[in-house]
Amino acid sequence: MSDSIVELATFPTPVEPAPRLAAAIGLGPDDLWIKRDDLTGLGGGGNKIRKLEWTVGAALAEGADTLVTTGAPQSNHARLTAAAAARAGLEAVLVLRGSPGASRSGNLALDGLFGARLAWAGDVDQTGLDAAAAEVCERLREGGARPALIPFGGSSTLGARGYVRCGEELRAQVPDLRTAVVALGSGGTAAGLVASLGSAAVLGVDVGALADPADAVVRFAAPLTSAALAPDRLRVRRDQVGAGYAALTEPVRGALRLAARTEGLVLDPTYTGRAMAGLIAAVRDGDVRPGERTVFVHTGGLPGLFGHTEAVAYAEEGATAYEG
Ligand SMILES: *Cc1c(COP(=O)(O)O)cnc(C)c1O
Repeated sequence: MSDSIVELATFPTPVEPAPRLAAAIGLGPDDLWIKRDDLTGLGGGGNKIRKLEWTVGAALAEGADTLVTTGAPQSNHARLTAAAAARAGLEAVLVLRGSPGASRSGNLALDGLFGARLAWAGDVDQTGLDAAAAEVCERLREGGARPALIPFGGSSTLGARGYVRCGEELRAQVPDLRTAVVALGSGGTAAGLVASLGSAAVLGVDVGALADPADAVVRFAAPLTSAALAPDRLRVRRDQVGAGYAALTEPVRGALRLAARTEGLVLDPTYTGRAMAGLIAAVRDGDVRPGERTVFVHTGGLPGLFGHTEAVAYAEEGATAYEG
C-alpha cells in the first residue's frame, strides 16, 4: 500500500459546540459537538479531501497525469477530485451517471470551473458506471495519457486512511467521545473512523448509495485495525434513506431548518441532512443519550444543496415577508 500522501488541506479541522441544537433535539447543552470537516478548505471543502490525499498521492507516485472517477451528477467526490487534480497539476475526467440536464448548478458548476472534462454514462447502475470509467481510461491510454482511476466516492482501504487520521484528531479533541455520528455513503469515511475509534463509537447513517453499506465499511476498515469487525456489529441506521439517494425526505427538511436556525449551520439534502435526521431519531429511540458526549461529523456538501432544486425551493420558502 502506498505511503505517499499529497497534502491538500489544513488539519486538524475544528470541533465546535452546538448547545442550541443539542437542547432542541433533547440532549444537554454541552453534549453535542460538531467536527467541522466541511472546513477542509480545498475546492469548497468536505470529507472527500482526506481520502484524496491518499488516493491522489498514490496516483502521483505511479506517474499518473489524469485522474478519472465516477459519481452522480451532484457528486461532491467528483467535484473534489477535479479540485485535487487542479491543485496537483493533473487533468480530471469525471464519469457521471445520467445525461447532461438543463441545470448545471451546484457541484456541476464547480466541476466546470475546475476544468474537469465530463463523460456522461447514461442511466446505468454502479457496474455500468465502472465499465464506462474503465473505457474512458482505455481511451486515455490509447491517446498517450497516464490515467489513475479513483474508486467510487474515493472509498477503498487506502482512502479510508484519511479518516483514521480524522479519528485520531477526534480522540485528542474530544477525549470523552461516546458516539461520532456520520453520513454513510460509499463507506470509506465510516471505515476510517471505525478503524481508529472502534465500531461501538461510530453511528453511520446510511444515505442509500450502496446495497450493503455495513459490508463495505468492514471490507475497507479490516486491514486498518487489529480489532475483529463484523457487519452486524456496526451501528448503522438505515431509516433515513426514504425514497432514495436524491429524495428530499420530511425528516431531512426538518433537520436542515433546525441546524440552520439554531446554530447557523448549513447541512446538505443528501448526506449531512440525513445524518442529522438520523441523530435526531437516535436520541428519540435512546441509542444516543443525554449526558454522553456526541460528535456530529459535518462532512460538507454545501454545493449539493444548490444543485438540488427541491431543497433550494424549500430553503427559499423559509424566508417570510417582513410586515413592519
Ligand atoms: C461522500 C459524502 C459522504 C459520505 O462519505 P462516504 O465515505 O462516501 O461514506 C458524507 N457527506 C458528504 C457531504 C459527502 O459528499
